[in-house]
Amino acid sequence: MANGQRVRSDVIVVGLGAMGSCALASLARRGVRALGIDRYDPPHDLGSSHSGSRVIRLSYFEHTDYVPLLRRAYEGFDRLAHDAGERLRYETGLVAGGAPGNAVAAGMMRSARDHGLEVEAIDGRELRRRHPQFTVPDDWELVAERRGGFVRPEATIRSALGVAERAGARVIRNAPVARWGADGSGAWVEVADGLGPRDGAVTRYETDALVLAGGAWMPELLGGVGPRLQPTRETIVWLDDAGDPSWQHGSMPVWLFDRGDQPAVYGVPAFPGMGRPQGLKVGLHGRGPAVRPAQIRDEVDDAIVRETIAVTAERVVGAATRAVAGTAHCLYTMSPDSDFVVGAHPEHPNVAIAAGFSGHGFKFAPVIGEALADLAVDGRTALPIGFLSPTRFGRG
Ligand SMILES: Cc1cc2nc3c(=O)[nH]c(=O)nc-3n(C[C@H](O)[C@H](O)[C@H](O)COP(=O)(O)OP(=O)(O)OC[C@H]3O[C@@H](n4cnc5c(N)ncnc54)[C@H](O)[C@@H]3O)c2cc1C
Repeated sequence: MANGQRVRSDVIVVGLGAMGSCALASLARRGVRALGIDRYDPPHDLGSSHSGSRVIRLSYFEHTDYVPLLRRAYEGFDRLAHDAGERLRYETGLVAGGAPGNAVAAGMMRSARDHGLEVEAIDGRELRRRHPQFTVPDDWELVAERRGGFVRPEATIRSALGVAERAGARVIRNAPVARWGADGSGAWVEVADGLGPRDGAVTRYETDALVLAGGAWMPELLGGVGPRLQPTRETIVWLDDAGDPSWQHGSMPVWLFDRGDQPAVYGVPAFPGMGRPQGLKVGLHGRGPAVRPAQIRDEVDDAIVRETIAVTAERVVGAATRAVAGTAHCLYTMSPDSDFVVGAHPEHPNVAIAAGFSGHGFKFAPVIGEALADLAVDGRTALPIGFLSPTRFGRG
């Protein structure tokens, strides 16, 4: 360590995006002396938690064990919204499914049955009757969930960091953690100080416990320990709503249409206060390609934008002729089985990790934040996250 400074806290959170900001808020609310560090200035648009909206739903087709966590996450968003005085969650309803026998509708119905959720099985004809903005075949199998909708990622992170700082947490921005370590007596991180006269110096922060929540940078932060994690770069397109009320929150539900072995297509309606770009936000779930995080800055590929619009236009009336209001990149971090990786680091019990959110993690941010705070403070959590254990693939 050259020209080092040392600073001590009880828990350090590395990465203040969705999961880290909520972990920091959860720690600070408990009165823990917590320090959060981010390589950029969150909320920012260089990771996984930007672009105005994220789908939230309860009847989870991916895995029925997520449902209890989702119930807790809904409460977490509402508590955060209350404490921050900002609206974070919209219940605009959700419709999802596809051709007969599709896995999405079947999985949603299974979750609903297992957990007593209120959902409705409808066919394509009924969807068109309720929502003439869609064009789907009569025989499609779909599920409608009234409590589905969307949350606001940037506002959530801003709110969580605000709550954390007001409760006494310290936040350091624009400070990439270059190295970390842990042993039986504690843990430390080192931040290279690239600014001003101290250029080249390193500040070392010491702590009892560490939370690593670095999103698409987790492969670097874990240095090959744990499951293989692969960032992918996803493309988002906003189609101009041209003031059309049928593309607005309240009239259009959030939707996701299964396409078998092709990436599912999803959309989130326009809503008041969404800012720019204004319009219907659409994307192809898991279209990729695989990238390094820095490649989020590359120019958006026109061919992917055209593909996204063409697939959307098969299902949404008028989508082929609306102007493109905006495009953006965003990063997924895929785990081997597309389930999250949350728990103690395989080699260091005082380091909690949150990784591999595989393009569906945002809706869980408040409950994952709680679980991370439990792990950092108590070394265990009563929240049912066992199925997400980092060691489920072997010890890595
Ligand atoms: C296009 C798109 C659509 C999505 N749609 C949905 C959806 O509808 N519903 C849903 O639930 N989920 C959705 N997701 C997934 C969800 O957004 C992510 O799972 C979630 O945001 C991941 O949060 P995170 O905290 O892991 O990562 P991030 O929020 O990216 O946070 C990681 C943070 O770590 C920081 N960091 C990294 N390395 C370091 C370091 N060395 N030192 C300091 N700081 C560091 C980064 O700057 C960043 O702020 C979507 C994702 C994308 C890209």
